[in-house]
Amino acid sequence: MNCIFCNIVKGKEKAEILFENNSTISFLDIRPLNFGHSLVIPKKHYENFYDVTEEDLHSVIKATQFVTSAIKNRLIPDGINIISNNGSSAGQTIYHFHFHIIPRFKNDQFTFRPQFKDYSEGMMREFADKIRMETKFSKEN
Ligand code: AMP
Ligand code: ZN
Repeated sequence: MNCIFCNIVKGKEKAEILFENNSTISFLDIRPLNFGHSLVIPKKHYENFYDVTEEDLHSVIKATQFVTSAIKNRLIPDGINIISNNGSSAGQTIYHFHFHIIPRFKNDQFTFRPQFKDYSEGMMREFADKIRMETKFSKEN
């Protein structure tokens, strides 16, 4: 498998690395939405959020908070979006799990809130029930 992010981990592909430890690495996104847009990935290859292990997810989320705080302190943005695209319909283009850290500025002219939908009568309960069919039996509860 030829994965560009695995190649960054191996040092075969150039990247502006911001942070690295045993299990995670963070680097600048090559096509930023705003300058300083960064990515955080597990060093091990997982396709996306669905299959990353709990242990690696913990490391990635900790590293994400750490890099977010560096971006906040050094670039002084007005806000920061942290997102993960999973599946092509969600905009995923690189199938190695990652979080985006996107510094935001008051007049940066883009939004992640395109159009909201309205639930009709009873529909909200229906959707919640569908999801609860699984979550209510989970050991997490
Ligand atoms: P996604 O579309 O959520 O899968 O995000 C993949 C991101 O990786 C995109 O924002 C790309 O700009 C970024 N990207 C692709 N190749 C590289 C690279 N070689 N170095 C840094 N970022 C990259
Ligand atoms: Zn990979």
